[in-house]
Amino acid sequence: MPPQAPVRRRVASTVASVAAVNQVTPRMTRIRLCGDSLSRLAAVPGQTLKIYVPDLDSGCPVSRDYTVRDYRNSATAGARLDIDFVLHGDGPAANWARRAQPGELVEFVGPSGRYRPDPHADWHVFAGDETALPAIQAYLAMLPAHARVAVYVEIADAGEEQPMPGVATPVVRWLHRDGRQPGTSTLLDDAIRAAQWPPGQGHIWLAGHTPTVRRIRAQLLNERGIDRCALYVKGFWDRQQHPAGSPAGGAPCAVRTVGRAR
Ligand SMILES: Cc1cc2nc3c(=O)[nH]c(=O)nc-3n(C[C@H](O)[C@H](O)[C@H](O)COP(=O)(O)OP(=O)(O)OC[C@H]3O[C@@H](n4cnc5c(N)ncnc54)[C@H](O)[C@@H]3O)c2cc1C
Repeated sequence: MPPQAPVRRRVASTVASVAAVNQVTPRMTRIRLCGDSLSRLAAVPGQTLKIYVPDLDSGCPVSRDYTVRDYRNSATAGARLDIDFVLHGDGPAANWARRAQPGELVEFVGPSGRYRPDPHADWHVFAGDETALPAIQAYLAMLPAHARVAVYVEIADAGEEQPMPGVATPVVRWLHRDGRQPGTSTLLDDAIRAAQWPPGQGHIWLAGHTPTVRRIRAQLLNERGIDRCALYVKGFWDRQQHPAGSPAGGAPCAVRTVGRAR
């Protein structure tokens, strides 16, 4: 038999409309999506969505990864999904979030991701920068009241601090860059190096600026002797990646569209 050409499957996507835009902090905007399409998702906060946003330079949509900050689905109120965008500067997703208006349509793929806090861990550490904060908040909300938790979050300044949800009472350390550019400090490295872990088998979740989380991963494995299985590490962004104007993981120009609900 002649070799068969690989079958190209189009990944199913969801289109929802912007219901509300709220400024959580000066540099964090929460966009609430709604629409019948969301009720079929069964999303779990902390999962990842690949969102298509317009790149104003090329006119093409590009895809960017974002975290499901919250998801509710009720028979009476319908389904809604919240995403928290860091307004970091010039990037298609940050620019889109800065300008988004109720009624606008947005297309995304997902949610995906199976990470949940380990229910058998004796203690938990969550660490990252502001891009990791929506996921950290989602995971904190899953922990029981008796959980022992420490949280380290690098943010621009005190104005970016947010309340932590859930019934657990984490020890939270906010690490302020105070004028330094994101991705240029060792605040998180230093805080993790200085941290004392309680006895027992813990679990550490770490995400954010990719070179920073790589350094901290190496620190934990090589200097602290942390077991690989006790670590979940994910790079969320890099200063060199996704230069404005170039599609990254996006779909062909003609396929994706974003617009307004009629
Ligand atoms: C699994 C996953 C979940 C994520 N969840 C969230 C989330 O819930 N909320 C959120 O805000 N982000 C989240 N991120 C990070 C987000 O995808 C990136 O910040 C993304 O690069 C933003 O896209 P953009 O189009 O705005 O900028 P890009 O086009 O990607 O980048 C443009 C320029 O901005 C720089 N840049 C990108 N992000 C930042 C930043 N945060 N700070 C400073 N400079 C930056 C780039 O280095 C580049 O120079 C997540 C990433 C992953 C992988």
